[in-house]
Amino acid sequence: MSATPPRRMEPPVIPVAEPFWAATRERRLVVQWCLECDRPVFYPRENCPLCLSTNLEWRDCSGEGSLYSFTVNHLSGNPTGAEGPFPVAIVELAEGFRMMSNVVNCPLEHLEVDMALRVTWEELSDGRNYPLFEPAGGTA
Ligand SMILES: [Zn+2]
Repeated sequence: MSATPPRRMEPPVIPVAEPFWAATRERRLVVQWCLECDRPVFYPRENCPLCLSTNLEWRDCSGEGSLYSFTVNHLSGNPTGAEGPFPVAIVELAEGFRMMSNVVNCPLEHLEVDMALRVTWEELSDGRNYPLFEPAGGTA
């Protein structure tokens, strides 16, 4: 795969999130899981925010979820020049955690809370992939 020019501000990789970004190179969405209270932990952390345990492991996610909430950004403040309007979404993953992302391949007027979504990927310049979401049934 050839590197593409950046379309967004690319997130830095902090040490605790290295497994997350490594998995994105294979287009796998992973989440930390607390083995003490049996729940997902997202964003990546050293400790479970509920019980403070460090007994966490990384698990693969299905990539399926639903649109929990969204807003539409009409202003472009992104130095890479990304153009608005575009949706900023909170996606509820099937595994029981929420992640902020964007919904793509869906006209803004088709966005609807609770709509089924699935992960899709945008290639970053260093071989990582950025998780985005699209309608589960394909392009709306
Ligand atoms: Zn816990």
